[in-house]
Amino acid sequence: MEFNPFQKKYKKGERRVAIVYPNRYIGGIANLGLQILYSKINEVAHCERFYSDVFGGLRSVETGSKLSDFEVALFSLQYETDYFKAVEIIRRSGFQGIKIAGGPCVMENPKPLLKFFDAFFIGEADEKIQEIVLAKDVEELSEIEGIYTGKEEKVKRVYCKLEKHLEEEIIGDGAYGRSFILEIGRGCVRRCSFCLVRQIYAPPRWRDVEDLPEIKGVNKVAIVAPSPTDHPKFKEIVQELSELGFEVSPSSLRADAIDEELVEILKLAKVKTLTLAPETASPRLSEFLRKEISYEELRNAVELSAGSFEKLKLYYMIGIPGESVEDVLKIVENAATFKKSFPRVEISVNPLVPKPHTPLQWLGFADLSEIENKISILEKESKKHGIEFSTPKLKEFVIQTILARGDEMVSDLLLGKNYREFLDLLKPIELENTLPWDFIDHGYKKSKLLHEFLRLIETLDKPYKQFEV
Ligand code: SF4
Repeated sequence: MEFNPFQKKYKKGERRVAIVYPNRYIGGIANLGLQILYSKINEVAHCERFYSDVFGGLRSVETGSKLSDFEVALFSLQYETDYFKAVEIIRRSGFQGIKIAGGPCVMENPKPLLKFFDAFFIGEADEKIQEIVLAKDVEELSEIEGIYTGKEEKVKRVYCKLEKHLEEEIIGDGAYGRSFILEIGRGCVRRCSFCLVRQIYAPPRWRDVEDLPEIKGVNKVAIVAPSPTDHPKFKEIVQELSELGFEVSPSSLRADAIDEELVEILKLAKVKTLTLAPETASPRLSEFLRKEISYEELRNAVELSAGSFEKLKLYYMIGIPGESVEDVLKIVENAATFKKSFPRVEISVNPLVPKPHTPLQWLGFADLSEIENKISILEKESKKHGIEFSTPKLKEFVIQTILARGDEMVSDLLLGKNYREFLDLLKPIELENTLPWDFIDHGYKKSKLLHEFLRLIETLDKPYKQFEV
């Protein structure tokens, strides 16, 4: 059962707008951006939500209405692999209205989706959404800043000032449990070389403590921001919430931000899992990723937290250029020493996806058989040391890379063609090539990104072309 403060009765003549989240309800309801859009649309039209695991995405959560009865459908694309479900929902619903897609994947590269949508919104839609849903047709839509219909040569990404936080939210059983989602910032002050967020949500913006709402009706608060510990008042926010009696769940923390005071605050806030993302156990590869967390900082964070949390969760990447089997073994070796400080240790390992708009966009995806071998080594070694390990599905990361880097031709993958026919997209990209996503202006200069890439490659001992699949 969910609590929905924005739901209203349909009034005759109102425009019917569907928000479609082509993935599970649990993730969709935990997405604050969608809740903001939903509340704003309901001020000027009638909005209902669709999730792929509720009536197969074909009927709304609110009233069970058919998607085909709506005039506008807004698809939120958070992960490239959601494209398959989105295309299926469009096909099975027989939806005939205006189809618009948005979300981080669209901000990254909408080209593989051109065939399936009338328009895309490139950016944060908070301030534009009412104009978008009221547009009569695609022509009117195309006049709105941030809209891409396939004809525009350049589109400048739209971002907005962080407004006052929502006072009330839909509360459902989401990824963080029944909790209030508190967004304390957007964008990131860091420069990790693999990270899309630093590029597509720039510039970094923080919410002032005064703009945070008085939370009611729940026991738990999930704090979200790309790097929450970088918020200048992070400790103060968590402390205040815990003093008000809330259980707090922050997204992953930076190891170098952990000190005794923060550990105490997190304990009082009933945080059960400490989540850190060192990304690699090798100092050499860490320099390449520009994560700027040393092993000493990680070990220090773990030692300071010993006995204070039930579980330590560590995020790592594999398939980094120049990575050896020893570098990968070091991940488990480190995690095994941390087991002395935590009853449970989990490592989550994902293959590196060279994302558009990041300095690594020219890089190839790692050799598939090498990466398979590394995954199986990690699996075995983790088991040996009693470390929890969730095996990444390599095929999903390959498909993610193809969809992230492809152009219009890749839409055939969404129509049933085998992904193996697109494996060329995993190869390194020629530096002088025009890229399918070059038309999006995210506010960076391509020449500067290239300069950054070449400097990163210099930290390795081979030129980028030698990291071929
Ligand atoms: S990986 Fe995290 S810390 Fe690094 S730039 Fe991205 S959001 Fe920021």
